[in-house]
Amino acid sequence: MTAGDLMGLKMIVNGLSFSYGSALVLEGVALTIAEGDFVGIIGPNGSGKSTLLKILAALLKPAQGSVILDGRELRRWSRLDLARRIALVAQERGAGFNFLVEEVVAMGRYPYQGRFSAMGEADRRAVERAMHLTGCYQLRERELFSLSGGERQRVILARALAQETPCLLLDEPTSFLDIGYQVELLELLQSLNNREKLTVVMVMHDLNLASRYCRKLFLLHQGKIHACGDPAGVLNRENILAVYRTEVLIEPHPLGGSPQVIPISAKNLPGKTAYSGPVHLIGGGGSATPVMNELFIKGFPLSAGVLSAGDSDWAAARRLGLSMVEEAPFSPIREDRHRDNLGLIERSSAVVLAPLFVGPGNLLNVEAAGHALKQGLPVFVIDEPSIAARDFTGGRASLLYAELKEKGAVFVSRLDLLQLMKRDNGDGAILSHS
Ligand code: ADP
Repeated sequence: MTAGDLMGLKMIVNGLSFSYGSALVLEGVALTIAEGDFVGIIGPNGSGKSTLLKILAALLKPAQGSVILDGRELRRWSRLDLARRIALVAQERGAGFNFLVEEVVAMGRYPYQGRFSAMGEADRRAVERAMHLTGCYQLRERELFSLSGGERQRVILARALAQETPCLLLDEPTSFLDIGYQVELLELLQSLNNREKLTVVMVMHDLNLASRYCRKLFLLHQGKIHACGDPAGVLNRENILAVYRTEVLIEPHPLGGSPQVIPISAKNLPGKTAYSGPVHLIGGGGSATPVMNELFIKGFPLSAGVLSAGDSDWAAARRLGLSMVEEAPFSPIREDRHRDNLGLIERSSAVVLAPLFVGPGNLLNVEAAGHALKQGLPVFVIDEPSIAARDFTGGRASLLYAELKEKGAVFVSRLDLLQLMKRDNGDGAILSHS
């Protein structure tokens, strides 16, 4: 029998709760796993991932709710029938007896063997195939205890593959592996999933690998499913902040586009800053991105405008979820957009004019900085390189810059600006423009 022989695997979990003693660990969990799924169970430490996997593997019995495999309650399956449907790759803890690698992998054949019968041809083939697939073949005569953690992990995977089930449950299968073996293991699972419709359900710590390889994610938080769906739907800034209490950026993987999670800081920094409202950034063409990212990391609330849709400042502002006024690509700033920008400026508490290239189409952005001064707002002008090198308006922009200076705008380098705009980290030391 191969993974393809038993078709139509389906697991339906409903209203599942579980406690260790009085500690409720899973509550009201519902999910469906269908044949050919590639599912990742993610969530912080202690959120119940391993417990859920053990329940799916029938190692633990739910206190409440049901787990139905192919139309039958899990607890009604005989141990051997179940072992022909589902194999578990538990976390490698280095315990157990000191068998030879080949013997360990051969243990995966137990659902197909009589009590005392020897291995048949099919068993031998399955064991050899599993060892080849996982790169264990050359280790086959080594003792388990002589192996590294990563090698042992692959042997445990080989044992599960030798079991030839249509579904594999894995508990953090990449945790002991170096990056090369991590990718190799996930690509192996992916190819078995593609070629043989092997259903894969794995607990994963690494969000970026989960995002890259899983088609469906269940995000657990304190024993409940906080979000589920494809990686793009689950791995967003709000979910990560709520569940991991970590501020992150989400960037598409350069190859393939799966969302990749880049941690920024341990928690959201709503920030006592020197300012009561957002800092408004005027930029374009990437001129504002460095200061935008740096102020964001420091916890400053930000807004931005007028930015051309699709340009790199626009993309950076979108990534950070800033309020922004945007204009169509390559179009001059229209009056209504300019007015919206002035609206954001009026709601801000300071304005930064980034070193943007100025042409007739975006001269209004420089005028907007003048409007901020009229409102009595502090205006910081980053003038490196100097406006003379960025002025494509026949000198009108340079005149406006001179006017800004005269009316009190602070001309600074980007580094000086960051020095000026410190956050209050609780020691009261905020510096502000005064
Ligand atoms: P995760 O895999 O997400 O880290 P677990 O399912 O291992 O979470 O654990 C969930 C919670 O249950 C944790 O608080 C953990 O301490 C507790 N727990 C896990 N196993 C046991 C056990 N055998 N006895 C008592 N509590 C346990």
